[in-house]
Amino acid sequence: MEPVRERFPISVGDCREREFAATCVQCGVAIPDKVDQPVIQINCGALLMDNAERSSGGPSDMLDGFLDLWFHQGRPHAASSLVLAEHVPGGQVQLYLCSTRCLSRFFGDIVTEFERRIATAMNEAQPNPQSDPR
Ligand SMILES: [Zn+2]
Repeated sequence: MEPVRERFPISVGDCREREFAATCVQCGVAIPDKVDQPVIQINCGALLMDNAERSSGGPSDMLDGFLDLWFHQGRPHAASSLVLAEHVPGGQVQLYLCSTRCLSRFFGDIVTEFERRIATAMNEAQPNPQSDPR
């Protein structure tokens, strides 16, 4: 398993072209067919609602999907982010996990990495006592 900080952003591919052959984003086990094997799916994105009659839509070349976390603090200014997925053609981020155990670890890893980045941002935001003109 690669270090948490090197796992993000996750490569999710083009949601319009994917034959169903996913892997668990946490442990990497193959999830070949969601009909014959339970799967947990995290979905995020947008649908281009181009069928007003049926009030429906789908992925589109006009959509670019993303999923990220942001931290902001006003004073002292600090900001940090964790990009989980970016530039997803079609606009729909779909992440697959093999079990609730992997789901729990996945979110735990996200929080751990996000906390690390927030701590770095907060440390960098601290005033430098040597540059204080008083
Ligand atoms: Zn797994």
